[in-house]
Amino acid sequence: MTDEEWASGENAAEETSPVKVDTRRSVDDHLATVLAGIGRVDPIELTLLDAQGLLLAEDVAADHPLPSFDNSAMDGYAVRSVDVRDASAENPVVLPVVGDVIAGGRSVSGMGPGLAMRIMTGAPIPAGADAVVPLEDTDRGVARVGIREPARTGDAVRRTGEDLALGVTALTAGSAIGPQQIALLAALGRERVMVRPRPRVLVISTGSELVDVGKEPGFGQITDANSYLLTAAARDAGAASYRVGIVPDDHERLMDVLESQLLRADVLVTSGGVSMGAYDVVKEALSEVGSVEFIQVAMQPGKPQGFGHLGPSRTPIFCLPGNPVSSLVSFEVFVRPAIRKLLGKRRLERATVEATAMERMPSARGTRQYRRGLLHRELDGSYSVSTVGGPGSHLIAAMASANCLIVIDEEVDEVEPGARVPVIPLLLSQR
Ligand code: AMP
Ligand code: MG
Repeated sequence: MTDEEWASGENAAEETSPVKVDTRRSVDDHLATVLAGIGRVDPIELTLLDAQGLLLAEDVAADHPLPSFDNSAMDGYAVRSVDVRDASAENPVVLPVVGDVIAGGRSVSGMGPGLAMRIMTGAPIPAGADAVVPLEDTDRGVARVGIREPARTGDAVRRTGEDLALGVTALTAGSAIGPQQIALLAALGRERVMVRPRPRVLVISTGSELVDVGKEPGFGQITDANSYLLTAAARDAGAASYRVGIVPDDHERLMDVLESQLLRADVLVTSGGVSMGAYDVVKEALSEVGSVEFIQVAMQPGKPQGFGHLGPSRTPIFCLPGNPVSSLVSFEVFVRPAIRKLLGKRRLERATVEATAMERMPSARGTRQYRRGLLHRELDGSYSVSTVGGPGSHLIAAMASANCLIVIDEEVDEVEPGARVPVIPLLLSQR
C-alpha cells in the first residue's frame, strides 16, 4: 500500500459514512487514563552507585560541615600573617621551619609566633597559624624559609563549613542523583540513600508464530523481536526491565505466566494478541478478568491498546499490539511516560523539536500518525526531517535506521514539503 492509498483509504471511509461515530479514544485521553492508573513505587534504600540516575526520596542534611576542619588550599608554609606582613622579594622574611603537616597527618602540633611549618594541600592548619604562603612565594627552604610575599589572615585557608555548614540541607527529596550528587553524599559520609527505585517492568511476547532468538524459525514462524525491543526500551526509559519471553496464543498458558510473574512486577507489558482476530488471546483472556480495558486509540500505528490492572496489588498492565513498530510507538507514547511517573520524574514525555518536512507526508484526519523519520540538524542549527520506510508497522529495518518519530497531528491531513512538523528524537539514553 502506498502512502496515498493508505491515507486516502482511511479518509474515504470516514467521508463516505457521515453517520459513523468515532468510538476511538484520542491519544491524549488514553495517555491521561494510563497515567491516572499509575500509582507509585515505595522508596527504597540503595548504595550510592546504585542510586545513580534516580531521584532522592529524602532530604539529606549535613551531619558534619564541609570542609570539616580548616585546611590548606595550597602546598606551602603555614604562618602567622602578622609575621610576614612586610615580606617582599627584596626583603624576604626568614622564619625557622619547625615541622611538616601532611594531608592525612594525625597529630598536628601547634606553632608558636615567628615560626613556620611546611604544609601540603588538604592538611590541617596547625594551631597558631592563620594563613598559608604558597611554595611559589618562598625559597622552599627546609630548615628555614624565606617568605617573599606578605599574607593576610585566611589566605590559602579552606575554612570549616565554607562549602556546607553543619545541619544545612545538602540535597532535597526529588533531586536527581548524578555523579556530582553522589560525590556530595560520599563527602558527607553517606553510604546509602533513600531513592525512588527503578520500577520492575516485565515483558512478555505473545504469539504462536514466535520462536526465540537462536532457534531456526520453521515455515510461517518468526523470531520474537518485541520482547527484546520492549525490554530494551523499558531499560532505556529508566526501568529495571526483565524479558520473560514468549507465550503462545493459549488462554491458560497466558494466564499462568501472568499470574506467576505478577509478584515480581511493578508493571507488566505484553505484545501481540490485542486486535480483532480469532486468536487474539490477550484480549480474549484479559477482557474476562474485567480490570483490563481493550480500546481503539485514534493513532497509527498502535490503534488497538489494552491497559488495566491485575492481581491484588493492582499491577498496571499494558497490552500492546504485536507489530514491532506498533509496539515501539505504543511504548513511546504510553509506557515510557508511565515508567517516568513511577520514577518520580516531573517531565514524563520526551521533548519534541520542530523540523522542516523534506517531503509530502499524507495522513488521515482524526488520527495521530507517528512516522519513522531521519532528523537532520542543518548548519544554521535548525532541523529538517524525512521519512524512513512507509507507514507499514511491520518495517523493522526502517525502524532501526530511524532516529525520530514524526508526529502528524489529528487535525492535519497532509504535511506539505517545507511545513514545520513536531518530531520526537529517539536519542539513546544517557543512563
Ligand atoms: P498481533 O498483534 O498478535 O496480531 O500481531 C501482529 C503482527 O505482529 C503479526 O504479523 C505478528 O506476527 C507480529 N508479531 C507479533 N508479535 C511479535 C513479536 N514478538 N516479534 C515480532 N513480530 C511480532
Ligand atoms: Mg498474535
